[in-house]
Amino acid sequence: MIQYSRPLPAGITPCDPNHHPQWVETRGAPRSHPVARPCPPHHHIECHRCGIATVPSPSRAITEARWHDPSAHIPIHDLARVREQIAAAVANAA
Ligand SMILES: [Zn+2]
Repeated sequence: MIQYSRPLPAGITPCDPNHHPQWVETRGAPRSHPVARPCPPHHHIECHRCGIATVPSPSRAITEARWHDPSAHIPIHDLARVREQIAAAVANAA
């Protein structure tokens, strides 16, 4: 997997003016993902100061909406596990 991180796009409110959350795009599949099954790029927003991230989504609009919805936040250390669940669901739906 390859991850591209960049600062939050203008217009998205950070969790705290002193924090520097990142917009992260993940390409490629987790290790457990079946070869030859599709796994679209996913986006999430994470803040290491808060220790939270949004549930990854292939949609930028959903990612932005989740950032503003604390119930869609997960601990950063859960990202890998949640990403594998999402990839498995995508593979099963294919
Ligand atoms: Zn923060």
